[in-house]
Amino acid sequence: MTIQNQNTDKNLDSTQKVRTLLTIGRYFKERFGTRVRKIPISLQGFTCPNIDGSKARGGCIYCCNESFSPSLKKLDSTIKIKMNFTLKKNPILDTQLTQLEQQFYWHSNFHKEKFNVQKYMIYFQSYSNTYAPFDTLKTLYDKALSLPNVIGLSIGTRTDCIEPKLLDLLSSYVDEGFEIWIEYGVQSVFDQTLKLINRAENMQNAPALFKATREKGIKVCAHLIYGLPNESQEMMLHSLQSVLSWGVDGLKLHPLYVVENTHLAKMYKKGEYKPISLQDYGNLIVESLKIIPPEIVIQRISSGAHEPSLLAPKWCFDKNIQMRYLRDLLWEIGIWY
Ligand code: SF4
Repeated sequence: MTIQNQNTDKNLDSTQKVRTLLTIGRYFKERFGTRVRKIPISLQGFTCPNIDGSKARGGCIYCCNESFSPSLKKLDSTIKIKMNFTLKKNPILDTQLTQLEQQFYWHSNFHKEKFNVQKYMIYFQSYSNTYAPFDTLKTLYDKALSLPNVIGLSIGTRTDCIEPKLLDLLSSYVDEGFEIWIEYGVQSVFDQTLKLINRAENMQNAPALFKATREKGIKVCAHLIYGLPNESQEMMLHSLQSVLSWGVDGLKLHPLYVVENTHLAKMYKKGEYKPISLQDYGNLIVESLKIIPPEIVIQRISSGAHEPSLLAPKWCFDKNIQMRYLRDLLWEIGIWY
């Protein structure tokens, strides 16, 4: 007897067990009994300590937030003020609150009308979303949680941008019944790689931070990038093993791609950087999923930029092709994605 994957016509023999991957969609469905959509939010004024000069300038060599988040392109470019921990007064807080509401209603109405989605999680996506005065963060998070049918927050940030009182605040939302995630950008655990990509941080404190975060009832999702310059497959899998050993609730794995107007683009054009192939990336995803425990929520295994600024690899232009390829590979090892 065989089990057939209807998408691919590929068969497994009946002795092979099929495991359904715990994607974020399936996790939400199990946890809330209905579909939940993450609503990406990009607000004016957020930045990063490796962009504003407090640790470095220029940001990560691949960083182009506009390509990660189309909402950023629509923000008012005449507003120059940037957030950090020491800013005494935030003169653009009202603007940020308005943008939060506008983006929420635009996305939630779309998903409600098109896909009948009834519940939402607010995802603070662009830049480091905890790198701002505490009062600003509290006002924005309170507002986000007051919006209709919002079940919680997911906050993207760096491991060097967390103040202890922020964890206490987020923990108080958990106590009120909200689902709170922090998405920590790790990318690699190797100092030489983090230096090369101008990350301006190391992962020395990350294990303790992950532990402290989870002890407060906040869920941790770690981001890793496969295909960083000078990294071997063994190094990438070592980074994965490391974050698993620190303790995580979710993972986002994605390939590095090159977009225009970045330092990585210059390296690529000079022949100093060779992007990862789809085959190598696929093999890494297969090897990764063999070691990731089944209870960890897989929030992402693919990534791309469907726009002309994408230089390489070209397979990152079409996420559907990427997903079909990865689905087929995973099916061959008995994982239903
Ligand atoms: S940490 Fe994120 S937002 Fe900041 S420079 Fe790097 S990629 Fe860009």
